[in-house]
Amino acid sequence: MAMEIGAGLSKVSKAASRMIAAIPAREHGLKIGLRTPVVGRPNTIVVDNFGERYAAERTITKDPSRYLFYKEGVRFDVEELLYPRMPSWLVFDETLRKRRSVVSLRGTDYQGIEWGEENEHAIENGWILRAPTIEDLAREISDHPENRELMDADALLETFSKYNRCCEVGKTDPFGSEPENMAPLRSPPYYALPLYPGGPNTKGGILANGDREALNTEREPIPNLYTAGEISSAFKFVYQGGNLVECIAFGRIAGENAAKRALSVSRR
Ligand SMILES: Cc1cc2nc3c(=O)[nH]c(=O)nc-3n(C[C@H](O)[C@H](O)[C@H](O)COP(=O)(O)OP(=O)(O)OC[C@H]3O[C@@H](n4cnc5c(N)ncnc54)[C@H](O)[C@@H]3O)c2cc1C
Repeated sequence: MAMEIGAGLSKVSKAASRMIAAIPAREHGLKIGLRTPVVGRPNTIVVDNFGERYAAERTITKDPSRYLFYKEGVRFDVEELLYPRMPSWLVFDETLRKRRSVVSLRGTDYQGIEWGEENEHAIENGWILRAPTIEDLAREISDHPENRELMDADALLETFSKYNRCCEVGKTDPFGSEPENMAPLRSPPYYALPLYPGGPNTKGGILANGDREALNTEREPIPNLYTAGEISSAFKFVYQGGNLVECIAFGRIAGENAAKRALSVSRR
């Protein structure tokens, strides 16, 4: 609606997001995003569709690096014209599978989803792929429709061996993962779960100034149009102490300025 009366847009590609699991189940017709707290933890790696790691896997609770990992995940390959990291693959071994659910089962958002404390239902449902060897896992990933047969078994084997060697000899991870969050993937069977860029909020929206007046594409105020909140975030891709704080702070500024204008118009 704002665009129809000339509003400009800003930061439309920005989001404060994370790499999450998205399963085929639907709730109220919507695809369900699940938080993945094991990303960036021992006995796991994240690889692209070709079987290569691409960044330090960052835990979804670590601010702001979770957003930096997300930014890596959405990178577009302009030469091949594809998203090589969409989906990405959370790969883990039996040690982690038995340790905990790879998605967060807490909270009210996920009621009714049968995942399993040890991931057993997710494996039965085919949401998590399982294979006895790394080569077989590469084949399973390759057969997954969203991998588009891009997975390279040799590359995945090489990634495993480099990562495990790094953990065992205590070498610095070339991608910068912290040693306390690294442990080798040695116990078969092996598992893979597709990860997608997702998460709670976008940053792009209506172009606005500090008084929260909506601006047109020439950056001139549009009379009587004010904006605040997620539709016109002042931030780029981090939470910065909370979106709700932003909504309240800028909501107040927008409200005051709109009220002042309404008063001055009514006095005229
Ligand atoms: C799962 C999740 C977890 C989050 N966790 C946190 C957190 O811990 N801390 C934090 O600070 N933020 C969090 N956020 C983000 C925060 O909740 C949002 O940024 C914030 O609620 C946005 O508020 P808003 O008023 O700008 O927009 P909204 O709350 O989206 O309000 C927009 C309103 O406009 C209405 N609307 C849309 N179109 C029309 C129309 N054509 N006519 C009339 N009305 C319309 C909508 O129905 C809606 O009520 C989270 C978000 C999600 C989704």
